[in-house]
Amino acid sequence: MRDARTVLVSGNWKMNENHFEALKLVQELAALVRVAPIPEGREVSVHPPFTSIRTVQTAVETDHLPFLLGAQNCHHEERGAFTGEVSAEMLAKLNVAYVIAGHSERRAHLGESDVDVRRKVDAILAHGMRPILCVGETLEERVAGAAVEKVRTQVSGALSGRSGEVVGGVVVAYEPIWAIGTGETASVQDAQDMCATIRSELSRLAGAGAAAAARIQYGGSVTPDSAGALLAAPDVDGLLVGGASLDAEKFVAIVRSTA
Ligand code: PEP
Repeated sequence: MRDARTVLVSGNWKMNENHFEALKLVQELAALVRVAPIPEGREVSVHPPFTSIRTVQTAVETDHLPFLLGAQNCHHEERGAFTGEVSAEMLAKLNVAYVIAGHSERRAHLGESDVDVRRKVDAILAHGMRPILCVGETLEERVAGAAVEKVRTQVSGALSGRSGEVVGGVVVAYEPIWAIGTGETASVQDAQDMCATIRSELSRLAGAGAAAAARIQYGGSVTPDSAGALLAAPDVDGLLVGGASLDAEKFVAIVRSTA
């Protein structure tokens, strides 16, 4: 079971919102939270595409908006001949707080392995940011009874050998691949069971204190209707939201949701 800690709701904008659209979306979010503030104990991060981060950063910092800045990926190297890549250092300079590592879309379409994801986590931590480590199984793996092993392997692949202090500061997002962008949400029980499994893996790797301090999100077709019950599950400490995060009203409703 988790400590009492801040819930983190993160909006993954994926490859949506050019910088004009990103500014509009963040202003819509700002207008909504101005009318009714984000509830105590909740943190919100927004993860625009790289080309929109600077624009969103300027809006957030100029208007003191209650959103933390996030990125969707980074390269593990500091700098050099990696055409088209963006380093963790570049993101840290933009005051990015959270970086998604190992999203299943990148694992599937760009061939990112657990080794690649571990290196990204190294780079994110080295620059004082927090990783949101994405893990999750395919439908075939779930049906074959292989989901728990896959998820434990992904968690230990990225986080083994790290101190309790480091592990206590990370975010792990359980995102069953069959639920991402499909309209299928895992049942609250399934989400709770896998988030509890992830916490037990964190405990095995870095001790019970670290496991209790780390935050575990659920992600996969979350909507304002499903969010409250998911957040009420004892091992769900937040939500990673894709599609619904592009609609300011829906995203803010998710941020505010209660069981
Ligand atoms: C995601 O992109 O991490 C995600 C969970 O997407 P969606 O909410 O659209 O399923």
